[in-house]
Amino acid sequence: MPRAILLTQDGGATLAQVTDLDEVQWPDAAVTVEVEYSTLNYKDALAITGRGPVVRTWPMVPGIDFAGRVKSSTDPRFAIGAPVVLNGWGVGETRWGGLAAMARAPAEYLIDLPPALTTKDAMAIGTAGYTAMLCVQALEKAGIGPDAGDVLVTGANGGVGGFAIALLARRGYRVVASTGRTEEAPHLLEVGAAEVIDRATLSNPGKPLQRERWAGAVDSVGGATLANVCAATRYGGLVAACGLAQSMDLPASVAPFILRGITLAGVDSVMAPLARRQSAWEALAREVDADTLRLLCPRVLSLEDAIDAAGALLDGRIRGRVLVDPS
Ligand code: NDP
Repeated sequence: MPRAILLTQDGGATLAQVTDLDEVQWPDAAVTVEVEYSTLNYKDALAITGRGPVVRTWPMVPGIDFAGRVKSSTDPRFAIGAPVVLNGWGVGETRWGGLAAMARAPAEYLIDLPPALTTKDAMAIGTAGYTAMLCVQALEKAGIGPDAGDVLVTGANGGVGGFAIALLARRGYRVVASTGRTEEAPHLLEVGAAEVIDRATLSNPGKPLQRERWAGAVDSVGGATLANVCAATRYGGLVAACGLAQSMDLPASVAPFILRGITLAGVDSVMAPLARRQSAWEALAREVDADTLRLLCPRVLSLEDAIDAAGALLDGRIRGRVLVDPS
C-alpha cells in the first residue's frame, strides 16, 4: 500500500503521521501518478505543523508539488510511464498532495517533464525554483536586463531566494543577496551572489523614499522588508513579490510608485496558467545545471524526516531546499 503523510485534526491541533493507505482511499481523478519525489515547501511546513491555515479539507495529504510517472490515466494526453510534474492548483491544500508515494490529479494540472530533467531534478527545483523563474521572467518582461544595475534577492538562504540568485547570476545580473544568516555568505557567493547584505538593514520600517539602489528585486519575505525594497528601487524598476516569510503586511507608501514609476509585480505560482508554467519549466530545464542543484538542494529526506524538518524550515534553520523520497 502507498505510504503518505496524513494530516488530521484533533481539537484544533494538527496531527501528522506517516500511514499506509489503500489506493481506494485516494480521491478520484483522471490521472494516477507514482510519486518518485516531492519536496518540503514553506507552505507544506505550515500545513504539517498547523502553524498556518493551509489545509482546507480534512484529512489531508500535504505536499504542493510532486514529480513522478503516470500509473494510469483516463485522459489520452498522458501515457502510462510518462514523467510528469505538478505544482500548486490547491494540491496539498484542498486536494490530496505530493507527500506520498501516490497522487491523483486532473490531467490539466499536470505538465510533461522536460526531457532534460529527471523527476529528482524537477523536485530539487520544486515550486521554489519554478516560482523564482516566474520572478526572473517578470523582471525580463519589464525590460530589466543585466545592464540595468544591481538586483536584490531577499530570503537568500531560502528555496526561492537561492534559485533566484542562481538564475539571475547565470543570466549575467549582478545579484545582491539579503539574509539573516550572514555566516552563510560563502555559500551565497558560490550560488552566484556578488554581494551579501544583512537582512536586518531592511527588516524595520524605513523612509518612504530611500537612496535609489535596486534596478529590480525578487522578494520572498514581504512586510517592512518589501516596503524598504520598493522605497530603494530605482526609477522605473520592478520588484517581483512572491512571499511572506517575514509578514503578510505591506507597510508602504505610494511614493515609489508615483514619484519613481516603479512596479510591484505580484508573482503567483499556484494558479499560473499552463503556458506560463511550461515556459518557466522549459527555461529551468535549459538553465539549471547539476552543480546548482547540488548546492541548493543537498538533502533527501524520508516522509518521517520531512515531518520532523517542518518546524525547522519555518524557523529558518534549514538552508536551501529539501527533497522528499516517499518510497
Ligand atoms: P524558505 O523557508 O525556504 O525560505 C524563506 C527564507 O526567508 C528563509 O530562509 C529566510 O532567509 C527568510 N526569512 C525567514 N523569516 C524571515 C523574517 N522574519 N524576516 C526576513 N526574512 C525571513 O521558503 P521558500 O523560499 O520556499 O518560500 C519563501 C516564501 O515564498 C514563503 O512565504 C512562501 O510561502 C512563498 N512562496 C510563494 C509562492 C507563490 O506562488 N507566490 C511559491 C513558493 C513560495 P534568510 O535566512 O536568508 O534570511
